[in-house]
Amino acid sequence: MQKHTKEGVVLACDFCETDWDQVKPMIEGHRGSILCLACLARAIDEAAELPEVFKCTLCQQERQAGDRGWRSGGAAVCFDCVQQADRAFAKDPDTEWDRKIAPDDRWR
Ligand SMILES: [Zn+2]
Ligand SMILES: [Zn+2]
Repeated sequence: MQKHTKEGVVLACDFCETDWDQVKPMIEGHRGSILCLACLARAIDEAAELPEVFKCTLCQQERQAGDRGWRSGGAAVCFDCVQQADRAFAKDPDTEWDRKIAPDDRWR
């Protein structure tokens, strides 16, 4: 998310609202949405079937009730984006992250 402050626009994680210091690993989604590494770790641990229709903050796609996802703050992330972020962080040489989701852990 973009926070508008007196100092200008600050980027922050949509899920924990931690300001981005330009150093910490973050994944950017659509419309300036951001998921930080700490929230990705939580999303992987806590992802569950959400009981209602939700719109993923990162990919902006509407997901059905019963689809796997994770909510925090006013934001939600679908499991597709969680998997993508997991892969992206694992490939990033600047980030110490081992892939947490096995490639064959298919949701459907
Ligand atoms: Zn976060
Ligand atoms: Zn998504």
